Amino acid sequence: MTTERDYYEILEITREATEVEIKKAYRKKALQYHPDRNPGDKAAEDKFKEATEAYEILKNPQTRQIYDQYGHAGLKQSAGAGGGFGAGGFSGFDMADALRAFMRDFGGFGGFEDIFGGFGGTSSRGRNVQRGQDLRVDLELSLEEIAEGVSKKIKVDYKKKCEKCNGSGAANDSAKKTCPQCKGSGEVRQVTRSLLGQMVRVAPCDYCKGEGTIITDFCSECHGNGLVDDSKALNVRIPPGVSTGNYINMRQEGSQGYRGGPAGDVVVVVTEKEHEHFTRNGDDIVYEVPISFSQAALGTRLNVPTLNGEDVLNIPAGTQSGKIFKFRNKGIKHLRGLGRGDQLVRVVVWTPTKLGPEEKKLFEKLGENEKINPPKSSKSFFEKLKETLGV
Ligand SMILES: [Zn+2]
Ligand SMILES: [Zn+2]
Repeated sequence: MTTERDYYEILEITREATEVEIKKAYRKKALQYHPDRNPGDKAAEDKFKEATEAYEILKNPQTRQIYDQYGHAGLKQSAGAGGGFGAGGFSGFDMADALRAFMRDFGGFGGFEDIFGGFGGTSSRGRNVQRGQDLRVDLELSLEEIAEGVSKKIKVDYKKKCEKCNGSGAANDSAKKTCPQCKGSGEVRQVTRSLLGQMVRVAPCDYCKGEGTIITDFCSECHGNGLVDDSKALNVRIPPGVSTGNYINMRQEGSQGYRGGPAGDVVVVVTEKEHEHFTRNGDDIVYEVPISFSQAALGTRLNVPTLNGEDVLNIPAGTQSGKIFKFRNKGIKHLRGLGRGDQLVRVVVWTPTKLGPEEKKLFEKLGENEKINPPKSSKSFFEKLKETLGV
């Protein structure tokens, strides 16, 4: 994502802001919109990315100067001309980049220390390593499970470090040779000319793919990859009150990284199953029950299903169709904070459709009685109905 909004405006700082002020302003925004604090919230995600992008540009004096002078267009031009700001220019600035930038400068918060391990493409050995693949697992949950929260066992197919070669991909120690092109550094220097003058860029060596070594004899188990397919079971704890599209990120439970790189994550994405009785409205659940004319007129007691069994609903005499009754605290637990929603029961007076001659006569007789017909003024009748519905 490349934003066109003013970077200073995004971070709410002046154009004269110092490096310390920039960092402080970014930290505030990043914590506010961090995905761990706003699970599944797309708008927050975009704000997080936007703020990170602004920070990445403004904290670097070189890019800040280009931006101050030429704006967004200047940055695009210099990135396009091979200058390369940050991770390969900002054309491919995605959520993972944003999170890594945040982690790099601020570390974790709330126990998520060092999640991204060797990000930036180099391990402690200075060689090119890659973070393992993130894996998505879709999980269907019933409304009952969502109402209380639930622990689920999930199966994950992932890539695991090959034990035979310990992830090196080589058949044995002597099957690894220093790369003749980069002499083992894993890097090559490229000189490019751009609008901003001559720029030296360090790129991974293409001969050894940045590893600094080449394999002359592959491991028979993983054929040089260093990773093998495997599967495992994981327990995932789903908090109550989630909805379709919410996700739980299980750090470093995904595929293990190439050549000792950090593992990716398992992202568990929640889908809510349709319920046979209830529809959901936020943390309230809604149940609709048909009643007869006589039940509405005379009042009745009904057994109504709830999320954890049954409850008795008292329908008073003279209940209008559409009236909503409330079972307090019988809904879904809130995702944030204490307490839970309600169960709303809407009664609808059912009109019979197939009448035999016998029933017809009964209704005709009822129709002759003034007391059981609606009032003449339809306006006052609907006003009253509105009152009952509370709308
Ligand atoms: Zn090389
Ligand atoms: Zn192997």
